[in-house]
Amino acid sequence: MNGQAAYDVLIVGGGMVGASLGLALSGQGLRIGLIDAHAPGDPAQPSYDDRAIALAWGSRRIFEGMGVWQDIADDAEPICEIHVSDRGHFGFTHLSAREEQVPALGYVATARHIGQVLLARLRDCADVQWIAPAQVVGVASDEQVARVHIERKGASETLQARLLVAADGGRSFVREALGLPTRQWQYGQSAVVTNVTPSRPHRNVAFERFTETGPIALLPMSEGRCAVVWTVRDEQVEEVMALDDQAFLHAFQARFGYRLGRFERVGRRASYPLSLLRVTESVRPRIALIGNAAHTLHPIAGQGFNLGLRDVAALVDLALGADAAGDDIGGETVLYNYERWRQRDQRNVALATDGLARIFSNPLPPVRLARNLGMLALDLLPPARHRLAAAAMGVQGRLPRLARGLPPR
Ligand SMILES: Cc1cc2nc3c(=O)[nH]c(=O)nc-3n(C[C@H](O)[C@H](O)[C@H](O)COP(=O)(O)OP(=O)(O)OC[C@H]3O[C@@H](n4cnc5c(N)ncnc54)[C@H](O)[C@@H]3O)c2cc1C
Repeated sequence: MNGQAAYDVLIVGGGMVGASLGLALSGQGLRIGLIDAHAPGDPAQPSYDDRAIALAWGSRRIFEGMGVWQDIADDAEPICEIHVSDRGHFGFTHLSAREEQVPALGYVATARHIGQVLLARLRDCADVQWIAPAQVVGVASDEQVARVHIERKGASETLQARLLVAADGGRSFVREALGLPTRQWQYGQSAVVTNVTPSRPHRNVAFERFTETGPIALLPMSEGRCAVVWTVRDEQVEEVMALDDQAFLHAFQARFGYRLGRFERVGRRASYPLSLLRVTESVRPRIALIGNAAHTLHPIAGQGFNLGLRDVAALVDLALGADAAGDDIGGETVLYNYERWRQRDQRNVALATDGLARIFSNPLPPVRLARNLGMLALDLLPPARHRLAAAAMGVQGRLPRLARGLPPR
């Protein structure tokens, strides 16, 4: 192929989503290239920082299918109940693993730990070649082939593949370079993320609490800690980040209340500006977008990575299915079916997350009353609650093999 290095599948981005795809496709007789701006294991890689990731039950199934769940579970805390409430008001609802007849609604693990497990496994995959550190600086495709231009060690190279997958995150170069249409929302909010140790045991309960300044999530972690995602208005971020530990604990306690007793210790803090972005077209000839490159969500519902992992499972199903049938893994049929399969889930989760973030940040009394009545109704109506639980667990709709806990092929 013109002297350019040629792959069956080239993945741009070795974050949690791209690395998961590389691993899921490994062992199937394909030549896979994984391009990332950071060398694998680079401690400065921001995708694998200390943020706590709530993994839905459906993500556990996908990791089981990939054979990595046990390693992830070694340092993951189960979520057995989710408690949703509105600060200072009557409405609340609660979801429980027992009611849904599963051992856990989901699990909490740090991005760092998930990254360590994925990268350790990838090291043993002779068919996945890391092309890193390398920066993708150009992309093009036609009916026959997709090409990326990279800069590596000060030199330019061109690589080509039958299927190019963009997993290059929220500010995706590939998405921008191809001019794919997007819908975007800005919230004027940022998430302050840390962990706290409460005086009472968390008993594996996750809390979603809605306050006037924005939502708060508290997720159970190992060693009795809880991960905090505290949404604050942009103009408050600096102030909250600058508080000393005691003042931070005091301010957070005032927002969350005393359901878990007194918060006694706090970990390192980090802040992330929040926006929501979703592509309305996720494929081009021989190119598919997955993960945050296709949808970047408000973290309040803890769905971004879970949604990305479902993109991985669907694409793997279609590409390996085509390969097994002697068809083209990057052909029009695979890409058309991928886009159709994922569109509804991506749109629904983005809209629901956006709705949650907006409705629950709205201080107007009629909106408050409506949402409190809504939550109360949800709590009194088991079928509606089951539907909400199924959505939170990521097990709705047609499920690919991996999402049923089966190996990719
Ligand atoms: C505070 C917070 C809390 C969250 N909590 C949850 C949660 O509880 N549950 C959940 O499911 N999700 C959660 N999320 C979302 C989740 O973190 C993301 O959805 C997920 O990390 C996205 O992974 P990704 O691989 O798609 O993108 P990224 O992690 O952004 O990876 C992109 C990769 O592409 C590489 N790259 C980019 N451009 C180039 C280029 N031009 N050339 C070469 N390489 C390039 C980057 O180096 C990077 O490695 C949270 C997010 C935040 C901010």
